[in-house]
Amino acid sequence: MNATTDWFSVTDLGGGWYRVSEAEGHFPCHSYVLEDGDEALVVDTGLGVDDLRGVVEDLVGTDVRVLLTHAHWDHIGAAHQFDDVLIDERERTPDGRVSIDGLTDESVERPAQFVAGWLEAGNEFPESFDPDSYEIRPVADVEVVTPGETLRIGERELELVATPGHSPGQLAVLDREAGICHGADVLEPGGTLYAHLEHSDVSAYRETVDRLIEYREAGAFDVLTLGHGEPIRGGDLAILEDVATALAAIERDDAPFETIETHWGPTRRYDIGGIEVLTRA
Ligand SMILES: [Zn+2]
Repeated sequence: MNATTDWFSVTDLGGGWYRVSEAEGHFPCHSYVLEDGDEALVVDTGLGVDDLRGVVEDLVGTDVRVLLTHAHWDHIGAAHQFDDVLIDERERTPDGRVSIDGLTDESVERPAQFVAGWLEAGNEFPESFDPDSYEIRPVADVEVVTPGETLRIGERELELVATPGHSPGQLAVLDREAGICHGADVLEPGGTLYAHLEHSDVSAYRETVDRLIEYREAGAFDVLTLGHGEPIRGGDLAILEDVATALAAIERDDAPFETIETHWGPTRRYDIGGIEVLTRA
């Protein structure tokens, strides 16, 4: 099935999973939906431009929980539309909120930059959307989940895997039955790693990739989905080895880089065996 709304497009990934995509062709953001029995899980909530909850309820029509892989603005945008939201403790404020400026204010300009870039590229927003009042709305009473924990959705068991490095408490969602691991921002499109953010950590990132390689070698998954890129399947997952090699070289301070300007200020850019890694300058 490939359903489409004006803003979202829905792709059946198999194994009971759907991908709900928005802002494709410019800044693609993907959320993932699993339904089993009368329960459903949404992994990440994108940009908050349109009614994600409505699309999800049309799709699965059941009791929906939301797991936020991490608290970056482009994953939490529609979280406020849902009642039951989960995240790792390290991505939440001490008083239980998730918000664009909860841990750092480095992303507060990004929604306005996205709107400007989207319109400049000649794209349109849904009629219901007002660019001038667009904001990433905070979510209160977000529940804590822990790496290693199993989420039960109907008869399905989903394992939450610690994947820090890009952000301190990023979680992957591993569905061994479907052979799918939802890796969020562990890898950006084109083989780029975003390890240059305020709470990024290259050593933790390298350990994360080593952990994913172990899971993959143990046969836990054969498809790695991403927050912004296309799923990586089968033999293409060998890219994880290249990523681990690149991160280990940076960890040893044994790789050349150039310093570039980004939205986040001066940033080191490494290109190691085709893997681009951004770290703080
Ligand atoms: Zn992120």
